[in-house]
Amino acid sequence: MSDCIFCKIVAGEIPGFKVYEDQETLAFLDVMPRSRGMCIVVPKKHYHRFDEDMDTSSKAFDAAIVVAEKIQRSLNPLAIFFSVLEAQVPHFHVRVYPAYQDSIPLIENKPMEVDQKQLMSLAEKIRSVEVGWKRKERVVEVVREVKAEKPAEEPRKTSGSSWAKRMEDLA
Ligand SMILES: [Zn+2]
Repeated sequence: MSDCIFCKIVAGEIPGFKVYEDQETLAFLDVMPRSRGMCIVVPKKHYHRFDEDMDTSSKAFDAAIVVAEKIQRSLNPLAIFFSVLEAQVPHFHVRVYPAYQDSIPLIENKPMEVDQKQLMSLAEKIRSVEVGWKRKERVVEVVREVKAEKPAEEPRKTSGSSWAKRMEDLA
């Protein structure tokens, strides 16, 4: 789509601080981050909702996991959150938010002040982590139903109480 900001980054028409790229997906730093190293993962193909192309969306999630691992190893956050917000840009994307002790990236937080130089070195730092994980072609496994062996019944205990006796009489 010609007026889509993410398509423009994918096409290289506007610069993005890339941290990861494969055949179908691209990840780059959010230029208005709510925490240090916040990234956006997009499919290269333009579509709005994840269910318009489930296969590509699942590849974007795979890429988001790789990006999270790169962030974890380079910036060592406490935790990493993923989010999918449809409203912001109508091009499917997964946001990867690192959370630190003193900086929890809540949506109501104001974007942090960052300059181009900081973003450039941050992108370099995240990009340089080798995760060494590749998506394998999906193998659909047929799991057969396994019937559990019925355990041998334990001999019934009789307590001798009148209640137990009554239950046995009824059984
Ligand atoms: Zn787009």
